[in-house]
Amino acid sequence: MAEAGVASRRQSEKLIVAGHVKVNGNVITELGVKVSNNDNVSVDDVPLSRQRLEYYLLNKPRGVVSTAHDDKGRKTVVDILVDDVDTRIYPVGRLDYDTTGLLLLTNDGDLANKLTHPKYEVDKTYVAKVQGIVTNDDLKQLRLGVMVDGRKTKPAKTKITNVDQKKKTTIVQVTIHEGRNHQVKKMLKAVGHEVIKLHRESYGFLTLAGVPGGQWRKLRTSEVMQLK
Ligand code: URA
Repeated sequence: MAEAGVASRRQSEKLIVAGHVKVNGNVITELGVKVSNNDNVSVDDVPLSRQRLEYYLLNKPRGVVSTAHDDKGRKTVVDILVDDVDTRIYPVGRLDYDTTGLLLLTNDGDLANKLTHPKYEVDKTYVAKVQGIVTNDDLKQLRLGVMVDGRKTKPAKTKITNVDQKKKTTIVQVTIHEGRNHQVKKMLKAVGHEVIKLHRESYGFLTLAGVPGGQWRKLRTSEVMQLK
């Protein structure tokens, strides 16, 4: 199923266990059932061969979780697209609940795995509003790498875009290609600045141009090809 681009491996396992998958017309709920090209596999009665690979770019709003399901019943990024998309898509990587900005969603397991693999170094640019006045020394430390969860971060690009001397806040642009948990917040904390707001403005060559907060668009075929 992952190879057919229906869902990630983990997601596929969940679909199987939840009874969404049939092999030759029979529901299977056990993992590890072997199928061959002659078997007819379907998800929610749609044959795998008819599942299309789909790719979406969302400008995630605040207060939405970036998983396909939320045990606490909070709104998810998938819920935003659910009325218009009838395949099971899931987010590529994560943005925090309170982080806004560019998030890709797809049912292409291979591409999702590739893009989130540390070896595949997609530049992700964030704009962070932080407490305090960021100094050039802070920027230098961020550029060279800071300790986060006992491991030094890879070199980052950083730039100050605005300083509010009165409110004692700074807006910093940070570009990283790793995707560790809460990485940008932790990096800025490591140099003494709490993040007040965080927004991802680009993912590789993709930007949010023409996509307001809470809105989404399909990726163009040429964009998908460029990502692959
Ligand atoms: N870094 C963070 O700290 N949070 C995000 O949501 C994304 C990157």
